[in-house]
Amino acid sequence: MARAKKNTPFTMLGEQVAPGERRVFELEAAKLYTHSPLTISIEVVNGVEPGPTLLICAAIHGDELNGVEIVRQTLAKVDVAKLRGTLIAVPVVNVFGFIHKSRYLPDRRDLNRCFPGSIRGSVAGRMANTFFNEVAVHCSHIIDLHTGAIHRTNLPQIRADLSNDETTKIANAFGTPG
Ligand SMILES: [Zn+2]
Repeated sequence: MARAKKNTPFTMLGEQVAPGERRVFELEAAKLYTHSPLTISIEVVNGVEPGPTLLICAAIHGDELNGVEIVRQTLAKVDVAKLRGTLIAVPVVNVFGFIHKSRYLPDRRDLNRCFPGSIRGSVAGRMANTFFNEVAVHCSHIIDLHTGAIHRTNLPQIRADLSNDETTKIANAFGTPG
């Protein structure tokens, strides 16, 4: 029987994560008014065998908390020795909103509407730009978790670009009606 191919090291924020290794990184995304750095925690789980690079992230809207726990449980369950490909898990993207229990950023912008952002933009635009270029562009697949938050009622739904075959496959994996 042929041996399975080995995965390659994964580079995050200029550092390598070896196959079979998992590490937490802190991405400096902004500064608080006190000048303290505000960081986004990113856990990279690099499987032993090669495969897709999946980003699972939550709380781009800072008051949508269910996804934070889903990411936490996913991280608790994933076994790096059995994982094919790389999992990048970000439980809280909008760290400002999360701290303030708010959907928005201090500039009242909606981070979810600011991608890919700009290096010279507002706080939201800059955070989007940092997250997009340091994390999102390195992924082949992305699952971004949202929740019906305060004063909002959302039916369970999947939003996906169905003109893309691979995206359609992920959407169908959730059991979405075809
Ligand atoms: Zn949302």
